[in-house]
Amino acid sequence: GIMKRPPLNVRTRLLALSLGLLALLGCACLALGALVVRNHDSQQQQSDWYGRFERAFAAEQALSDYRDRGSQLSASMLARDPTAQRRAESEFDSARLALDERLTALARIEPVNADAARTTLQAAEEDRRQLHEAMLGGNRSLITQHSTALQQNLDRIETQLHGLSLHEQTAAASLFELERQHDRRALDLAMLMLLLAAAGAVALTAVILRSVLSPLQRTTRAMREVSLGNTAIEMPPVTPDEFGDLAYALRQYRDHTERLRRIAYHDPLTGLGNRVRLEEQVQRLIERLRRSQGQFALMFVDIDNFRAINDRFGHKAGDRYIYEANLRLRRFMPSDALLCRYGGDKFTIVLERLAAGTDRDAQLQEQADRILAGLSQAYPFGSHLLNMSVSIGIAVFPDDGETVEQIISSGDAAVYVAKKQGRNTARFAGTRDAGKLRRNLAVANDIRRGIEQGEFEPHYQPVIDVDRRAIVGAEVLMRWNHPERGLLPPSEFIHVAEEAGLITELGELCLRMAYAQAQEWAIRSRPLRVAVNLSVRQVHDGKILEVLRGLPPTPSPMPNPLLEFELTESALLDTTDYSHSVLSEIKSLGYGIGLDDFGTGYSSFSYLQRLPIDKIKIDRLFVTSMSHSKEASAIVSATMTLAQTLNLAVVGEGVETAEQMRQLRLQGCRLQQGYLFTGPLPAAAFEAWSDRFEQADALPLVSDAHSPERASSDSALGLTRL
Ligand code: C2E
Ligand code: CA
Ligand code: CA
Repeated sequence: GIMKRPPLNVRTRLLALSLGLLALLGCACLALGALVVRNHDSQQQQSDWYGRFERAFAAEQALSDYRDRGSQLSASMLARDPTAQRRAESEFDSARLALDERLTALARIEPVNADAARTTLQAAEEDRRQLHEAMLGGNRSLITQHSTALQQNLDRIETQLHGLSLHEQTAAASLFELERQHDRRALDLAMLMLLLAAAGAVALTAVILRSVLSPLQRTTRAMREVSLGNTAIEMPPVTPDEFGDLAYALRQYRDHTERLRRIAYHDPLTGLGNRVRLEEQVQRLIERLRRSQGQFALMFVDIDNFRAINDRFGHKAGDRYIYEANLRLRRFMPSDALLCRYGGDKFTIVLERLAAGTDRDAQLQEQADRILAGLSQAYPFGSHLLNMSVSIGIAVFPDDGETVEQIISSGDAAVYVAKKQGRNTARFAGTRDAGKLRRNLAVANDIRRGIEQGEFEPHYQPVIDVDRRAIVGAEVLMRWNHPERGLLPPSEFIHVAEEAGLITELGELCLRMAYAQAQEWAIRSRPLRVAVNLSVRQVHDGKILEVLRGLPPTPSPMPNPLLEFELTESALLDTTDYSHSVLSEIKSLGYGIGLDDFGTGYSSFSYLQRLPIDKIKIDRLFVTSMSHSKEASAIVSATMTLAQTLNLAVVGEGVETAEQMRQLRLQGCRLQQGYLFTGPLPAAAFEAWSDRFEQADALPLVSDAHSPERASSDSALGLTRL
């Protein structure tokens, strides 16, 4: 909004507080000062009043002294004692002087009374003078007469002065009392002012501190909440002061935190929760449902052939495809379900409120079918119409797992099964799958360890040209030198490695070892082309090309290339255009490509024609069944014809007997591989074997331990005859 108020910032506020407190302190000081001054004044006044009384009283005293001295003088005169009379006269004079002084002093404050006293005193003086004359004359009646007059006048002055001093005394007392009352009032007033000042100070401090502390507390509280991740709270207002700045900064902090949370919990492409969020959510659900003994289902939805889309049209297209899948999922899943993007082309749907008993699976199946149907509509993309389909794996808590990891891996395993079973279907996890999965997980970890420990060892099986009686190549076949389980064949680990995504690594390892071996052999004048089996996954991601381009160069003159590759027919059928382009690339790098296990898949001739291959390996199944199955030998002969037409080399696999060798030879297949010659051997043993094979023309071919009895009976015969 618009800020109308000039910013009364915290600094100003605190300044105001200090100034206010100073002002109030000043007020209190002034009040106290006034009180002190007042007190001083009233003391002065009191002493003044007291002084008046003192003067009056002093005059009264001086008068009584004067009277006494006068009487003594009169007595000394009557006694006619000149010395005493002289002394009395001087004393009387000083008393007269003292009285005069006192009266003069009194006149300053009470002129009327003092004058009256003085006049009466003059009359009394006159009386005394006449008295003294009468005394000198000795006239008794005159003496009595003047003495009486004198006493009367003196009595009058005394009465007057006494009255005056009494009056002054009462006046001073009453004034003193009045003053005390005033003092008390002034004190009260001062106390009131002090109290007010104190109250004012407290109020001012409270108001200003509140205006500072309450937004401070609010901001702190909000900051703490935001730090805890509660961003949906009321924020402190953006006021035109420092707290406004703070509040603004806090908003930025909140937005930043929210963004981070979004990044941490959300998939930016679809706006859905990501894997972290799913795991957190499932964890919460498990905690809640464990108490209430409830169930929930986790659907793992995996887009079929997504990699093909990504590979063929690029990542941008892949993203759009994923986004479209996300929209469709939202549309066709139950509205209260939680959809997350687990990663890549995998989504998860968490479903609560499941039906009880057997209805549950029916309900889930129905929901999965809805999704399958909803997603399987074609997706127009540019000029293409792309098929979209998904595979769904369903895991139910607590049947298929009791922890987040278990539930997720059960769902993952189920979706894997769904894919295996032809895609575009849904599969329930079921407990057996989970058990298998756990075992596979353990094996996968073991494989990882084995790779690190260098437990994998390449074995080599020769390919023989039975016509020329020469070793024309070797196939590398992996063995696992397991520290506990002994030497393991590929059937124990290839499949798991493929499922666990380890095959790329394992395959690359095999490729590098085979290449190094082939190089070494070439350097030692044993040039031999080594065939490496490729998993279709290795071709899928195209990483193989980088590996091949990065191989150390082979010094010439050597048979280039040192490697060729074998891919199973079924795997190849499954691949995308991108995979085909990877194959073409491999070929253009100069490497040959063989089609393994030929005959087991469904490859049509036209399909074969399009594949960039130059070799076919007839599956062992046909070689073994050729002798008793017309069909098998028909397939072999058809294959030979086809290969001739397409100009492909053919290798017969799994040749165990001389009879098999002979029949294959009759069909025109002279490249052969099998236990009849030897099984796969470690490099050193392979060398030893090939030395024996090449040197001893007439020697019987001794096969290795894989099939000792068969080989020893037939091999020599077969080969020497050919
Ligand atoms: P494959 O490529 O078809 O390899 C031929 C298999 O037949 C090998 O089994 C070999 O030992 C076996 N064999 C050879 N001659 C005879 C015979 O006369 N009689 C019989 N009964 N068997 C014979 P192995 O070594 O157990 O390998 C099994 C499969 O594992 C291979 O089938 C291949 O598909 C896969 N594999 C082996 N090493 C690798 C590898 O490094 N990478 C990949 N991706 N797959 C591999
Ligand atoms: Ca092979
Ligand atoms: Ca094979």
